[in-house]
Amino acid sequence: MLAEIKGLNEECGIFGVWGHQDSAQLTYYGLHALQHRGQEGAGIVTTDGEQLKLAKGHGLINEVFSENQLEDLSGHASIGHVRYATAGDGGYENIQPLHFRSQTGGLALAHNGNLVNAQALKNQLEAQGSILQTTSDTEVVAHLIKRARHLPLEQAIMEALSMIKGAYAFLVMTEDRMFVANDPRGLRPLSLGHLGESWVVSSETCAFDVIGAEYDREIDPGELLIISDEGIESKRFSAPIQRTLCSMEYVYFSRPDSNLDGKNVHASRKRMGKSLAEEAPVDADVVTGVPDSSISAAIGYAEASGIPYELGLIKNRYVGRTFIQPSQELREQGVKMKLSAVRGIVEGKKVVMVDDSIVRGTTSRRIVKMLKEAGAKEVHVRIASPPIQNPCYYGIDTSNSGELIAANNSVEEIEEQIGADSLAFLSVQGLNDSIYQGEESLKHGGCMACFTGNYPTEIYPNTMHPYEKA
Ligand code: SF4
Repeated sequence: MLAEIKGLNEECGIFGVWGHQDSAQLTYYGLHALQHRGQEGAGIVTTDGEQLKLAKGHGLINEVFSENQLEDLSGHASIGHVRYATAGDGGYENIQPLHFRSQTGGLALAHNGNLVNAQALKNQLEAQGSILQTTSDTEVVAHLIKRARHLPLEQAIMEALSMIKGAYAFLVMTEDRMFVANDPRGLRPLSLGHLGESWVVSSETCAFDVIGAEYDREIDPGELLIISDEGIESKRFSAPIQRTLCSMEYVYFSRPDSNLDGKNVHASRKRMGKSLAEEAPVDADVVTGVPDSSISAAIGYAEASGIPYELGLIKNRYVGRTFIQPSQELREQGVKMKLSAVRGIVEGKKVVMVDDSIVRGTTSRRIVKMLKEAGAKEVHVRIASPPIQNPCYYGIDTSNSGELIAANNSVEEIEEQIGADSLAFLSVQGLNDSIYQGEESLKHGGCMACFTGNYPTEIYPNTMHPYEKA
């Protein structure tokens, strides 16, 4: 779906390289492949063994970095970050990687996720005299590391990681080492690969393909990897707990060409569409998917139902951030910037419109209206995930529960509000089985808290959803 109008946004993507003379360029290309995870800002920090160098800015990767800038970022290792910033949280100082200098050397951090006890830790640090320069959770970790400076760095990082709770995939870099950590439940994806003799780390495996790197494995929950010129070493900072990877990564966030835990995202989405067709069949003439992330599920629905898949909706790919958006008045006159219905396909037809999820319902309402205006006789909406009824505390902007249409309305009420002729969602069991098939489905279960309310970590009394912060 179209994140910017849907209100469902991933917060970040991270990428790192160790041991390559073109590390900044490789990180640039890696981040470009992760651009769907954040479009508001990007940064790269490199090390040449002597010093860290940083470049960052607002915007898309190609807007932030020029060729000259990348050349200036010399060094054999880099970490990079793409960021989705929320209202009041988009200042330059919050763009990552964060870079700190001290007498003992530099420290750079890049983080994907959200810490549920960040506020409590911030209060504690400030009470003890720390001055925080950003509103980012990530800075808390830097302060915790620095406070444990009596310990060797590796232990200081472990000590800091043991104090934070929530979802985090971290890259930490000093002049001579890179540290890679995944939270004890592995809520956010993080993979290790190699390119010749160099190590690469990425939020998603699609970035490995772009630079010609080979995938090796996932970073285990609770694992700390230490990468340096001496090699790679794996340590644990937490006892093994069953992984609860975010199910929305499969449903919506990750690119279809990425593999998560060895499972291809496109294939998983197709299975979701297939299960949806089995759970909620409907008599119709064509199946169409809302571009881009719902196409795979729509193909699965079409294959399982025998109803032909057609391109009933087209996305305009060239609407940039700075494009002049139509006024409300022009919008009402039918000026549609991002999505169009294909009249020749849907006119006079009973259409199944497959979407990956519904957040506020405003986008679904617009698309149903668009299809009907293009002549669709009936529009049956099929959602390839369960209703989102609870906010996410782990780094995904699912708005506050007041804005989640499924938190406050029954399926019948949503159907009426979006103007659909019928509406059905995939069940929680159907989603779980589509991701983790067969035997695996009995053993595994990713995080499904936004659907079920069963949060895999404790939620602190003062945990505020990042988008509810004052
Ligand atoms: S609550 Fe939902 S969006 Fe958040 S980590 Fe869990 S599954 Fe993902």
